Amino acid sequence: MDQTATQEKIGAPSRPRPEQTSPLKNPVGPLIAPIKNTLIFACVLKGISSVAGVIPFIALAELGRVLLAEGPADEGRAWLVVGVAVGALVVRLVFLMASGGLTHLADADLQLNLRRRMAEHLSHVPLGWFTERNAGEVKKALQDDVTTLHHLVGHSYTDMVGAIITPIAAFGYLFWVDWRLALISALPLALGMFLMSFQYRGYEERMAEYNKALGEVNAAAVEFVQGIAVVKTFGQAQQAHGRFIDRTNDFVEYFWGWVSRRIGMSAAAETVLSPVFAMLVIAGACVAFVAFAGVAPVDVLPFIILGPGLAAPFMTLAYAQNDMMLAKEAAYRISALLNTPTLPDPTHIRTAKDAAVSYNGVSFSYDGETQVLSKINLTLEPGTVTALVGPSGSGKSTLARLLPRFWDPTLGTVSIGSVPITEISPSELYRKVGFVFQDVQLLRSSIAENIALGRPEATQDEIEAAAKAAQIHDRIVQLPRGYDSIAGEDALLSGGEAQRVSIARALLADTPILVLDEATAFSDPESEAAIQDALSTLIAGRTLLVIAHRLHTIVGADQICVLDKGEIVERGAHKDLLAHDGLYAKLWAASEAALDDRKGVSK
Ligand code: ADP
Repeated sequence: MDQTATQEKIGAPSRPRPEQTSPLKNPVGPLIAPIKNTLIFACVLKGISSVAGVIPFIALAELGRVLLAEGPADEGRAWLVVGVAVGALVVRLVFLMASGGLTHLADADLQLNLRRRMAEHLSHVPLGWFTERNAGEVKKALQDDVTTLHHLVGHSYTDMVGAIITPIAAFGYLFWVDWRLALISALPLALGMFLMSFQYRGYEERMAEYNKALGEVNAAAVEFVQGIAVVKTFGQAQQAHGRFIDRTNDFVEYFWGWVSRRIGMSAAAETVLSPVFAMLVIAGACVAFVAFAGVAPVDVLPFIILGPGLAAPFMTLAYAQNDMMLAKEAAYRISALLNTPTLPDPTHIRTAKDAAVSYNGVSFSYDGETQVLSKINLTLEPGTVTALVGPSGSGKSTLARLLPRFWDPTLGTVSIGSVPITEISPSELYRKVGFVFQDVQLLRSSIAENIALGRPEATQDEIEAAAKAAQIHDRIVQLPRGYDSIAGEDALLSGGEAQRVSIARALLADTPILVLDEATAFSDPESEAAIQDALSTLIAGRTLLVIAHRLHTIVGADQICVLDKGEIVERGAHKDLLAHDGLYAKLWAASEAALDDRKGVSK
């Protein structure tokens, strides 16, 4: 267990993640497939609104041509042009609103659908998957990544359509007026796109490198902050600090290397794409065409009005491209979560007759390579206590966690009442098997709800009785709102107290089988005594599988199994095992010596 905890902290892989080794090509498409048609329709509406948005500018240019034409102005035509402009504005407004409304409806649908799918999927993922690290990933996918997709669905696609259709419509009109001037008006856009293409060359790889470099800085910062106590105690502060500084310097160097190479090109591209630059080019061309090509001054008016706007939407495309990339990364993480292997559902459900537990030929490996448990055969008679002992890393926690299906065995079966647990429905299984582990999870809800988790219909009296038996009632009534205090808000409990809440929870759930990690190593002596009292109430009359850390607490166990390197090397009662003079006897001698040392220290 100790090793596991350390592993999780330093982020070592906890289980092969096939979805990470073979990522989907572009996962955005499949994720947004359910709202694809709505999105396409919204894009069509946006396209129409974009064309309608260009019409008032065309009308302005036409109005100029009508009013500035030689001779008396054609009043009827002028009014018609004004009417068309106003009509187009109304159409633009209506279609824009409809398009925005649709994308946001689709987005709300998608967010709900994705969060539901993830929640549903996670409910079938093995309990053992939910380590601290994975919990962080779940939060990121459920919250941040789904929100990142919002920008894509709600805005980016339609923004892109607008950014493409608007200049095409304007260019089409200008081409119709004078194709030569139209081509010259498009020159800044073409040049800007050419320069920008350098900017985006290899962008995705660069972005991945950037994220990696940033991740290393973050990891070094976290290592520095989290380990500060240990590091200082062992006089390594300078070294850990140095590692953080090195990573930061590496990052600055990398970032500057990337930015400095592109900064000139980027500034040039943005200048060329700016309306001022376009105005300069177009005005110059117009003057030349009027002076030397016999073009009438009124005929260059459309180019002065519409030309500078041709390149402007391009930056929107650049931003949308960025959104696409962020969305792609978010979609990878969401898909990875949706592809996390689940526990197979029972094909035909059976009910366990009694609370006898048996492990038959059980082997287990976390990574498919290293065997953590080998061919375990173990029977727990109903109402008896079985203790698992052994050196750290020998597989005690793993063996115990197979019973509440944190994982399924790689080989062999675990059965309750002669029924393999894979054929018992999850709700039935958790009515039969309760567990109290070291890493107690309290939900962010009231203490009463936390205790009644396994039996939500329990009355307040029953909840309090369980809390009293678990030696935690007195502490709860001292909380600002007693049993209504919210864990993590106004109920800030110590590790030992949280453990007693979880014991109360297990007491109330009243399962016939209980898996218990007896470690109270982190508790203070008072808390330890309280936990031991609470435990003795809890275990009475149940089938108990206990992971024992201090051997004197389990001398009375019905059977003690000694694990070593994933195998049960000795089993029997305390006395017999001592007489056998094997690994257990050695562990016992060590534990007695430790106990004597502690007594010596406390004298
Ligand atoms: P014990 O409880 O006896 O200390 P564990 O069952 O925690 O032993 O661990 C047995 C072996 O399995 C150890 O080598 C440990 O590093 C490894 N292990 C435990 N949990 C995981 C996990 N989630 N992912 C990968 N390896 C693990």
